[in-house]
Amino acid sequence: MSTKSTMMDYPLTLTNLVERLKTYYPGVEVVSRMPDKALHRTNYLDIHTRAKRLASALTKKGVKKGDCVATLMWNHYAHLEAYLGVPIMGGVLHTLNLRLSPEDIAYIANHANDKVLIIDDILLPLYEQFKNDVHFDEVIVVPLTGEAVSAEFTNYEDYLALGDEDFNYPAIDENDAAGMCYTSGTTGKPKGVVYSHRSTVLHSMTEAMVDTLGISQFDVVTPVVPMFHANAWGLAYTSVLVGAKQALPGPHLDAESLMDLYQSEQVTLSAGVPTIWMAIKQAREAEPNRWNTAPNMRMVVGGAAVPESLFRAFDAFDMKIIQAWGMTETGPLATVGLVKKSLSGIDKEAKYACRVKQGLALPFVDIRIVDEQGDALPWDGKTSGNAELRGPWITSSYHKNEGASDSFTEDGWLKTGDVCQIDQEGYVKLTDRTKDLVKSGGEWISSVDLENAIMGHPDVLEAAVIAVAHPKWDERPLAVIVVKDSKVITTNDIRQFLEGQFAKIWLPDAVETIDEIPKTSTGKFMKITLREQYKNWVWE
Ligand code: AMP
Repeated sequence: MSTKSTMMDYPLTLTNLVERLKTYYPGVEVVSRMPDKALHRTNYLDIHTRAKRLASALTKKGVKKGDCVATLMWNHYAHLEAYLGVPIMGGVLHTLNLRLSPEDIAYIANHANDKVLIIDDILLPLYEQFKNDVHFDEVIVVPLTGEAVSAEFTNYEDYLALGDEDFNYPAIDENDAAGMCYTSGTTGKPKGVVYSHRSTVLHSMTEAMVDTLGISQFDVVTPVVPMFHANAWGLAYTSVLVGAKQALPGPHLDAESLMDLYQSEQVTLSAGVPTIWMAIKQAREAEPNRWNTAPNMRMVVGGAAVPESLFRAFDAFDMKIIQAWGMTETGPLATVGLVKKSLSGIDKEAKYACRVKQGLALPFVDIRIVDEQGDALPWDGKTSGNAELRGPWITSSYHKNEGASDSFTEDGWLKTGDVCQIDQEGYVKLTDRTKDLVKSGGEWISSVDLENAIMGHPDVLEAAVIAVAHPKWDERPLAVIVVKDSKVITTNDIRQFLEGQFAKIWLPDAVETIDEIPKTSTGKFMKITLREQYKNWVWE
């Protein structure tokens, strides 16, 4: 027999997802919060039609296969239309991060050679700050506020009117580029990651699996994670694939607006970085009876480690946290932290210990931990090593091949820059970013473990632990904390609270209180700024 199968060679492209919207889910709603806080309602039939019009208009206006179309937008219906309309005409959707500095946005738009920009009207003041440093053939403005669009730009609605809803899809190879995101670049210049149709489709199918995030047409999905942060962790595409309703928060990411949206749309799954949930925890604790959310609501938390105290607090609100670990480079989901069936008999405390880990690698994502020489380390739950990944939605290079030698191994694995342990069950536990570890007297101390434990203190709102140079120990941990309600917390209070949880040499030698931990453009603790701030620290 020939080794060839009899199966069709059918491309995995986003075109198929867009067609399904019309055929199977036309009436499913897409709700978006507008700048004035009103809720805009549309449905998947409309999204389908408008995405095709956008694809057609881009083609008519000369955008070619492989050209980058940039967006500078919040999470709402028009961004979803671009998510679909750009790739189905062969374009590459490049989501610009609106929280970056104007200089960085210009650098990234130029580096990607973006041809067209689609921008929210409320973000035009930001565009004004970098417009002289970039060139787009056309700037298309989405009139979210309803105010007239200035003549120097194209009104998005007029642009769609140019397009034809019977747009004929061009032939697309499943390995063609569909989207692009830049890494947040806390060290060095941001680097471009280019997703293919195939990687996006496979990531969506895997994300929908019951044993990962279990997203189905019965869900109402709210990505709080911005659509410019690693494709909103794939949630927009996965929701389209399965026909799940989407409730998009627009520019309003404060706890009250989000809780109102969860209640009014009975959201069943939401996702974002830990800082979002810390704010929601505070709001819910302040007014325990104010909101009614859908029963068993799931919240996907990732982007930074999730303190155990957050799992416990949200269990009490009937909002279940599911931890996920990933990167812009990894599609982005690499692991999901669910408790396996074989562990379902473990007690409540052991379940928390399991959920606080980053979880099991998704199907087709291969993971290994290696030492400094690149030799594989055992999965014994104790040995820490550099985590490396490979798989169909893991990038194998950066756009224009930048940084390749540092980030990929000779045998083609991605070096994540995260330090992890893996136990015999396969659970990955992230101990730190390589650059955030504290090296004290030859021993590595995990800043993440300390932070998570400190954030379990009832009077602590946020905590970040950084390494500070020490004359005797090389480095020692300094804990920088934000306290609740102007409470006073001393170094001794924190050390006493941590005693018993850690070896003595792990305990921070000093605690500094500040008003707010600086955050990155994607809402994570910006430890690089803290390290800079405390670089002249003198130990008593
Ligand atoms: P980004 O590309 O901005 O999404 O950042 C990716 C990095 O965020 C990873 O390399 C991790 O250091 C961190 N990260 C993502 N998810 C988690 C998680 N669940 N726990 C701890 N760190 C995380």
